[in-house]
Amino acid sequence: NLSDKLDKAFHILKGHGKITEVNVAETLKEVRRALLDADVNFKIAKDFTTKVKEKAIGQDVLTTLQPGQLLVKLVKDELTELMGGDVAGINLSGNPTVILMSGLQGSGKTTFSGKLANYLLTKKNKKPLLVACDIYRPAAIQQLYVVGDSIGVEVYSEPENKNPVEIAQNAIKHAKANGFNVVIVDTAGRLAVDEVMMKEIAEVHKAIQPQETLFVVDAMTGQDAVNTAKAFNDILNFDGVILTKLDGDTRGGAAISIKSVVNKPIKFVGTGEKMDAIDVFYPIRMAERILGMGDVVSLVERAQEQFDEEEARKIQKKIAKNEFGFDDFLSQIQQVKKMGNMKDLVGMIPGASKAMKDVEIEDDAFKHIEAIIHSMTPKERSKPVIIDVKRKARIAKGSGTKIEQVNQLMKQFDQMSKMMKMMQGPGGKNLMKMMGG
Ligand code: GDP
Ligand code: MG
Repeated sequence: NLSDKLDKAFHILKGHGKITEVNVAETLKEVRRALLDADVNFKIAKDFTTKVKEKAIGQDVLTTLQPGQLLVKLVKDELTELMGGDVAGINLSGNPTVILMSGLQGSGKTTFSGKLANYLLTKKNKKPLLVACDIYRPAAIQQLYVVGDSIGVEVYSEPENKNPVEIAQNAIKHAKANGFNVVIVDTAGRLAVDEVMMKEIAEVHKAIQPQETLFVVDAMTGQDAVNTAKAFNDILNFDGVILTKLDGDTRGGAAISIKSVVNKPIKFVGTGEKMDAIDVFYPIRMAERILGMGDVVSLVERAQEQFDEEEARKIQKKIAKNEFGFDDFLSQIQQVKKMGNMKDLVGMIPGASKAMKDVEIEDDAFKHIEAIIHSMTPKERSKPVIIDVKRKARIAKGSGTKIEQVNQLMKQFDQMSKMMKMMQGPGGKNLMKMMGG
């Protein structure tokens, strides 16, 4: 899905301690590809990445302390904006408030009518009336009764009357006479956009002048959702979009595209078949969900803050030339200590956790390790092979440790050197890159 794809895009950032211009371009290219794969319109995806790039350059992302995080934030902000920015409320000012549902058959109009009635009843203290204007199938009217019964909301219908305009008008009269303050008009949809359906909904719309005309669309229909939205908007100039079936294996593309094509806010989302599976649409939450950011952001941030690129590059060279010594080990430990929990960090990098499996890194072990290394002569530090039993005894005494601890450190050092060599192979590339190499 889209989140996975974008995750992959941010992996490009993940592999680098410092973010370069090439990096930004590559990441945005991946972001664009992810959007296209999610059925976002080509032009929208292109405009989107262009905009982010311009903003990144404008803010001089590369010279900031945390370019990776800033880029992620730009992408998130821009995505939020693309989906409407702020939460779009529902206008309940009418007396009664008339809400008209529109959309294709199967999009979820009847289900959403029930959900909205239930939401207004339980959360907004309203007295809603459901109106059955889908007069083509008796089963459709029956369905609305089942929905109404389940939430304790009255349903208005005229099974013998085949004129949806009249039914809707009569329903509003009924509402006024009986103290209902919201009238939700459920209508008939067809499998595809056609003239008869459009003419009918346009007539109902004109006759009842709803405060809210909502376009209901199945989020799983991707690019088609955008085309349908456009067709309905041309006729109805609707007030908002309801995105249903977001609980399934949905392509987030619909949410991203619709707003920019018809310039109408998404107001609610449907997340299941039950009556309480309704959520107010929060653009920022949707952007966060689409980006699936959590770990990636913090990793990029930590890698940037803590690793000195130059230092890491020097060490990598030393490892390659077998010149990695205890001084380097010491500086590595200092780096690791700055980062917090090394195991957590390694765990975020695919492939690296396996390499680290046998290496024990405990926080309080650092104290002894540093003492031991400080008791070594410069020569011993740069050429650990010369450390024999006699030297070990002297080092243990000088550092106030036991000879076993010195032995343990020697072993750890050995393992770490091996591991680092291993990391120069395919599996460890990410870690070394992240360390700035
Ligand atoms: P209508 O033809 O536009 O009135 O669509 P319906 O309300 O009859 O819904 C069509 C189908 O989609 C039904 O089986 C609903 O249970 C299902 N449905 C509606 N909304 C959702 C949703 O948010 N999530 C899921 N999973 N199913 C939904
Ligand atoms: Mg229906």
